[in-house]
Amino acid sequence: MIAAALTCMLSSCTTNCNSENETAKYVFLFIGDGMGLAHAAATESYLSYKADTVGGAHLTFTQFPNIALTTTYSANRAITCSAAGGTAIACGAKTNNEMIGVDPDGNALKSVAYELKEKGYNVGIMTNNPVNHATPACFYANSKSRYSYYDICRQLAESGFDYFAGSGFYQFRGKDGDQPSVQGYIEEQGYTVCYGTEEFNARNKEAEKVIFIQESGREADPEYYVSDGEEECDIKISKMLEMGLEVLGDEEPFFIMCEGGNIDWAGHSNKTMAMVMEVLDFNAAIDKAMEFYNEHKDETLIVVTADHETGGLSIGQGVVWRKEIIGWDKLEKSWIESGEKNVLPFEENKALNENALIGWTSCHHTGSPVVTYAIGKGADKFHGMIDNIDIKGKILGE
Ligand SMILES: [Zn+2]
Repeated sequence: MIAAALTCMLSSCTTNCNSENETAKYVFLFIGDGMGLAHAAATESYLSYKADTVGGAHLTFTQFPNIALTTTYSANRAITCSAAGGTAIACGAKTNNEMIGVDPDGNALKSVAYELKEKGYNVGIMTNNPVNHATPACFYANSKSRYSYYDICRQLAESGFDYFAGSGFYQFRGKDGDQPSVQGYIEEQGYTVCYGTEEFNARNKEAEKVIFIQESGREADPEYYVSDGEEECDIKISKMLEMGLEVLGDEEPFFIMCEGGNIDWAGHSNKTMAMVMEVLDFNAAIDKAMEFYNEHKDETLIVVTADHETGGLSIGQGVVWRKEIIGWDKLEKSWIESGEKNVLPFEENKALNENALIGWTSCHHTGSPVVTYAIGKGADKFHGMIDNIDIKGKILGE
């Protein structure tokens, strides 16, 4: 047993590894868009501050027993975008930035979601971004451009997947607003589109396939943070996941992809407290998966990863001396005073971050590796240094 485990640690886990070469019956894949190691660490630092300690508070997923450092470069750039990053994770192949589910020559790739659907798995795709945004699109669409939202949404309708959830649809009536609504086409393909929890609860039971959208996402391109309040954000990702589990049930096997998309958006604007709130919301969804895992331990795999890092975040910046402390009090005070909305102009926000010793080196993505965390059946395949294209095979149990 010990010898086998050692071999497993020292090799790339091919022959002597204990895990069986088969896919778990229930698979959860969480993608924290733009969530680097420092985003999780900063959130834990904030939780420690709230608990009146310097450190030691933890998010659920950072405590998973298996961890793999994961490179994120795309086929043509050291710094990936969410389209190429999502394609690598979903389809197990590198492509150029801005491409969805196709190789650099434009040939269609098959995502892990389609492979498992063919094997009888139910599929649920959820995000707190629009459902036809880059990351979720990589699991159901093939497109040379991530910005072909209208076409990508038609592919969503044709996927046959069982459950989608998101904040809305980009280009609801096409790029110029002069096309038939995507909702009409989606409904023609047998989906019931529900806006808000009330409508979902009323119509879900009768529905064959469901799309669960923010109330505020009706015919709109909604962009919001969890902190925008109930009116803007009536469905958090933990709710999307809870409803997804209700739709998919546990009689049949399932594959779930759940994206925390706004971690990236908070990173792009260097909004520290908004980023922390988004990571906490993402973690709350993982807690829901853990409840399911605890009931189905031998048959469940949970993987948490990121498509790239956003913002070049660091805990500490400038000439930090060891007597100084991270200014969570300053960040939180400003956050509360602004109605928890992070409305500070960029320069003021920058000064606040500097004052609080939180460093952001970029308003875009960076090429740092990210962390993949795993627990459950087949989780022992996730260890050492891996590449984002390795994740698909490991999920499939190969
Ligand atoms: Zn981004």
